[in-house]
Amino acid sequence: MTLADLLADVHIPEPGVTSSGSSGVRRLRTADGIALFVEIADEAVRFEGYDARLAVARDVTAQRSAIDSVEASERRFRDLFEHSVGLICTHDLNGVLLSINPAAALALGYRVADLVGCRMTDLVPTALHSHLGDYLKRIGHSGEDSGRLQLAHRDGSPRIWEYHNRVLWDDQDTPFVVGHAQDITQSRSDERRLREQQAELEAVTDGSPVGLFRATLDGKFSYINRSYERITGQRADEAMESGWAAALHPKDRMRVMQEWASATQLREKFLSTHRFLHDGSRTVWVSMRAQPLIVAGEIVGYVGSVADVTARHRAEQQLQRSETHLRTIADAMPAMIGYLNATLRFKFVNAAYERAYGRSRADIVGRTAREVLGEAVYAKRLPYIECALRGERVTFEEEEQRGDDFRCMEITYIPQRDDDDQQIVGLHVMVQDITRKARQERDWMRAAEIDNLTGVANRAGFLARLDRALVRSKDQQSMLSVMYLDIDHFKQINDTYGHGVGDALLKAFAQRLASVLRPSDVVGRLGGDEFTVFTEGVRRPEYASAIAAKIVMAMRRPFFLAEEKLTLSLTTSVGLALSGDESAMTTAALLERADGALYAAKAAGRDGYRVAARKGSAQAVERSRPIMK
Ligand code: GH3
Ligand code: MG
Repeated sequence: MTLADLLADVHIPEPGVTSSGSSGVRRLRTADGIALFVEIADEAVRFEGYDARLAVARDVTAQRSAIDSVEASERRFRDLFEHSVGLICTHDLNGVLLSINPAAALALGYRVADLVGCRMTDLVPTALHSHLGDYLKRIGHSGEDSGRLQLAHRDGSPRIWEYHNRVLWDDQDTPFVVGHAQDITQSRSDERRLREQQAELEAVTDGSPVGLFRATLDGKFSYINRSYERITGQRADEAMESGWAAALHPKDRMRVMQEWASATQLREKFLSTHRFLHDGSRTVWVSMRAQPLIVAGEIVGYVGSVADVTARHRAEQQLQRSETHLRTIADAMPAMIGYLNATLRFKFVNAAYERAYGRSRADIVGRTAREVLGEAVYAKRLPYIECALRGERVTFEEEEQRGDDFRCMEITYIPQRDDDDQQIVGLHVMVQDITRKARQERDWMRAAEIDNLTGVANRAGFLARLDRALVRSKDQQSMLSVMYLDIDHFKQINDTYGHGVGDALLKAFAQRLASVLRPSDVVGRLGGDEFTVFTEGVRRPEYASAIAAKIVMAMRRPFFLAEEKLTLSLTTSVGLALSGDESAMTTAALLERADGALYAAKAAGRDGYRVAARKGSAQAVERSRPIMK
């Protein structure tokens, strides 16, 4: 490197021009490659009669790097100051703002330029000026201060700044304050709201009739409200941690503790009905429930409630007792007693149901009536069930004849209305086996309808059966024949042999009558020596006449009375009437016609039959064919 290179950018004045000289800093590199900053100063001088230049070079590398680092640090500070989200300002000890960063100016609703040079009092509400004065005094005195200051936003709203300020000195030794602050307005109001909410919550929870508690993640109680204290009789300080367990009833303590421990270990819900011993003496039944308290997706503990259910528990127990009583009574009853809900599902059955259906109670309850009764019986009972579902109490009898086995049930459905008496919510069922009673009644009925002497139907019995037969014959459009019989000159037998023999003969007569006829024919004794017979499904009138003739012939045979050791002969007269072509025919009319024909038979000399003329015939009685003597 030549001197000219070194001096390349050094100003060289023109000859004759005076120069105070010039200087410059150049970056050079040593032979070892180390960078140097060299300050070169040159000056025009006369040296031994020549115009010359005096160059002085000085290594300024150290100074230069010191200046560089100061500049860099200043840049960094400015950067920080300008771009920091923190609030930074400087002010003098009189409270005049010297500088403020954009974030701080913005936090108060201003631009930086609006605030530099302005007095801090302009930023503080008048009422708080004394606070600001105190602050300035404090910091001037101690050189450092921290605390909270209330400022006013440009829009007038208050701003709370939490600051930490220090006094520094500038290069002229003038003190100034550097302040760092944080706007805590929002967090302060958040905090306040939170406190308010907490206070509200406490007021609400203490006012609640339900006991409330909080527990930590490991199941230790951390809070209980007043109602909890009231219900359990424990004070809050006694119930904390695991203290609450001490108030549990000794008989429930173990179980509840175990269940609580297991629920908290598994982070599950807790639900239990148990007893507390209030003040160590009075039993209080409670329903206690708790569930994990989840904050931001994480379980942080448990919240729970305790409700006093003593009254309900007592009522339930009472109900249970009376239910047990009722069940015992119901089970002891021979009748089947049950309850069906509105969808006809069995809700209750007594022991008699189990016996009747050969199924356990558990197997019946829950099933529908259709399933339990079977399709056929259900169909028979459905009209009555529907009637009961409409609100009527119904009682009916159901007879069942299986071969020789006759059974009769008396069934009662009693509708059950809801509490408001509006809807039918179910049916009480009572099924009583009245087979014995029914059988007895049937026997009595039979007895009432049977002639004591001969064992054939008496007047009432014969007429009742004839009634039914006539209805059937009309339905089936078949013919019915009715015969009216009267023994000829019976009075004479009575007169000759006595009433007893007369009776024996009447019996024998009836027996012979039955033996001549088919089992399906019905024989009756209307009284005295008058007998009647009806035959259903007579296909032709001649067949009926043939039966009449057969009877007349049969009675001609002598009767041997074993007990009386007598053989007697008699004859009989028969009147015959036929139904079939007259839909309006009644039993009375039919019998009357048969009676008319009998009268004709008697009039014709007895020992024969006559047929009542049928509709459209000119004569009242048709002539019968002669019967061989
Ligand atoms: P007829 O040919 O006109 O029928 O003459 P009858 O003598 O049979 O007269 P009728 O049928 O009018 O009289 C029936 C008699 O039967 C009258 C009565 O003395 C008798 N009698 C009625 N009831 C009984 C009874 O229960 N036992 C007995 N032994 N006789 C009776
Ligand atoms: Mg007679």
